Amino acid sequence: MNAALCVLSSSSSGNCSALVVSTPGGTGVILIDAGLSPRRTRAMLEVAGLANLPVLGMVLTHLDADHWHPGWVGARDEDVRLWVHRRHRGRAEREGAMHRRAEVFDGVFSPAPGVEFAPLLCAHDELGAAAFRISLPGGTTLGYATDVGRPSDELAAHLAGVDVLAVESNYCPNLQRASGRPAFLVRRIMGGGGHLSNQQSAELAFRISPRGHIVLLHLSRQCNTPQAALAAYGGCPLPITISSPEAPTAHVPIEASTKPGPAMPRVEVPALRQPLLWG
Ligand SMILES: [Zn+2]
Repeated sequence: MNAALCVLSSSSSGNCSALVVSTPGGTGVILIDAGLSPRRTRAMLEVAGLANLPVLGMVLTHLDADHWHPGWVGARDEDVRLWVHRRHRGRAEREGAMHRRAEVFDGVFSPAPGVEFAPLLCAHDELGAAAFRISLPGGTTLGYATDVGRPSDELAAHLAGVDVLAVESNYCPNLQRASGRPAFLVRRIMGGGGHLSNQQSAELAFRISPRGHIVLLHLSRQCNTPQAALAAYGGCPLPITISSPEAPTAHVPIEASTKPGPAMPRVEVPALRQPLLWG
């Protein structure tokens, strides 16, 4: 196995994933998002059995507080490069994230030998969030999409046929509406420039047709449950791993799959009703 994904923690209180890669220079970890404090990140790497591996780089989808923890300002290892999308540069500068080794990307970039990230900026609040199609040593691919607003055609095409798909499944629409949250916040989340509901997540995943495994990210503590997320994915033939705020997931191997992705015809359903995509 040349690569694996371990989500250290994921929720609106902090997101950080460890992408474990074997490169010609040795095995190391690329952190995707840095929404946990440095101390908590280290603790989670310890729990995941990854604390002894070098951190090869840190890549940010965007800089909301649950993806970039201010504790990293000044705490970052001088040698670890931080990768920030061009659209986020100003915010990163204001937040002090750019004062050590930092790189700005706007197209394909390589945070470690043999590893290429192809970004796509998706609708999320003012500045958007970057989703990634990640090509790994050995020719396998990981799709990583969180805080992506809506299941757009562009995003589905960008991530089509990846071996492993990590995708947000943020909220259950019924729990969201019943949450008692202020109307502006509910609109922000559900309005196409916030987060994916469980149903939108499943619809996007169906259109992407990953080959081997699906990892669900960023489940809302207040407005979702693992059961509700899994129900939206009912009939999906692939194994599904659900990330949690409390503990790292298992290491999901990113391997070449000989099988094509799920080939069921898509069932059109009205928005926000539960789709029966896979069966
Ligand atoms: Zn977020």
